[in-house]
Amino acid sequence: MDKEEQRPQTSPHVLIFPLPAQGHVNSMLKLAELLALAGLNLTFLNSDFVHEQLLRHTDVVSRFLKYAGFEFRTIPDGLPDEHPRAGHAFMEIFETLESITKPIFKEMLVNMKPRVDCLLADGVLGIAVDVAEELGIPIVQFRTISACSTWAYFAVPDMIQAGELPIKGKEDMDRLITSVPGMETFLRCRDLPGFCRVMDSTLQRISEDTRKNFKGHGLLLNTFEDLEGDILSHMRTKSPNIYTVGPLHLHLRTRLCDSNQTLFDQYSSSFYEVDRSCLSWLDKQPKGSVVYVSFGSLTVLSSEQVFEFWFGLVNSGKRFLWVLRPGIMPDEGKNIPVELMEGSKKRGCIVSWAPQEEVLGHGAIGGFLTHSGWNSTLESVVEGVPMICWPYFADQQINSRFVSQVWGLGLDMKDLCDRHIVEKMVNDLMVERREEFLKSATKMAKLAKECVNVGGSSYCNLDRLVEDIRSMNF
Ligand code: UDP
Repeated sequence: MDKEEQRPQTSPHVLIFPLPAQGHVNSMLKLAELLALAGLNLTFLNSDFVHEQLLRHTDVVSRFLKYAGFEFRTIPDGLPDEHPRAGHAFMEIFETLESITKPIFKEMLVNMKPRVDCLLADGVLGIAVDVAEELGIPIVQFRTISACSTWAYFAVPDMIQAGELPIKGKEDMDRLITSVPGMETFLRCRDLPGFCRVMDSTLQRISEDTRKNFKGHGLLLNTFEDLEGDILSHMRTKSPNIYTVGPLHLHLRTRLCDSNQTLFDQYSSSFYEVDRSCLSWLDKQPKGSVVYVSFGSLTVLSSEQVFEFWFGLVNSGKRFLWVLRPGIMPDEGKNIPVELMEGSKKRGCIVSWAPQEEVLGHGAIGGFLTHSGWNSTLESVVEGVPMICWPYFADQQINSRFVSQVWGLGLDMKDLCDRHIVEKMVNDLMVERREEFLKSATKMAKLAKECVNVGGSSYCNLDRLVEDIRSMNF
């Protein structure tokens, strides 16, 4: 039987289209599996580049093929193969998606069999909204970032109108921003989404696309009510149909367990080869003693910055597990000081890519030095691990403000990258203020678990989404 004949005949056909980036693909695959468990017919559209990475490094593709109504399709992202697809250069993808991918996507949708009944598109893909509108296909958008940063992007035109943007240089960074409802008392210029620092076409596009998110048939968010309820209540004044279904990785784990799926094994959707040796290293470390350090899949660092973090970690005297991804340091970090090498041998473990969800769930981990990407933040929240935030760009600046100021889950290093500050923050997190952060982190982790259990807010919202897709009741 070919894939088309296997599709459940009575279920609508949903096409899922993520931005081709690690964090986006990770969370949309989790969502896809939740919808597959609910029996929907699904096509998951990857860029050729991403699909190749998944085939090379994971068993995701074969894992999904066990779902009768599931199929992968691929499309070019328009960038040349050798493009780094990281750092600020990643943003170039938006131009090629518009000029190259969009017409191919439209053609694909027109000819797709069975017909696509609903498009579930990444909320940063304005091209998907345009094509859905043109072809009259209902669209639900999924913002893979936090509600707080989505809401701040939405407020960009209001900030401009109120004269609060643009930011007037470095000396302006501590000015309070008052025109984002719900954040009037604590949001400074330096906490605004990274793109607000430069008033260029990227900011304009992101702000326009975010406005479009509020006009679709529904807006899906990888967050939960107990974490972002206050901001969500403001957002619902603009878009009543918001489905909070996160934390998706925990939600999927829970539903797989509930449905007695033997498939509850940890699986990877990494674009890199996962080095699992760090788990055996962690097994040998005392409980809560290790700082896990990772800056996600897109951050790019200079060797000076790497050395500042490295000195800070070694000088703190704490154990650390550090992910130094291939390509994270384009200038290669030549002449590594000998004391760093020695310090790492004694108390450190450095890998090029870790099984992050498992690492954060390991008892030896006591803290997470993170770039505050939204997936990393949620993964830390779920495991009750306090954070030190060093946001790199985009939504990360605002996430880190919420982690420290609103949720009390850790410290925000913000724009500083200095070995003394790293050392002090590691000591504060792991020793001085440990009890305080652990208390809030443990409480939030419990709430995260409750919201994905039967009757919890994310659980009910996912059921509502599936029902709405089945009945096209948007
Ligand atoms: N990740 C991983 N291993 C690593 C580093 C990161 O599996 O060594 C995963 C992490 O679990 C998360 C994703 O990569 O799901 C990164 O997404 P995030 O939104 O945190 O940051 P981005 O990469 O988009 O900046």
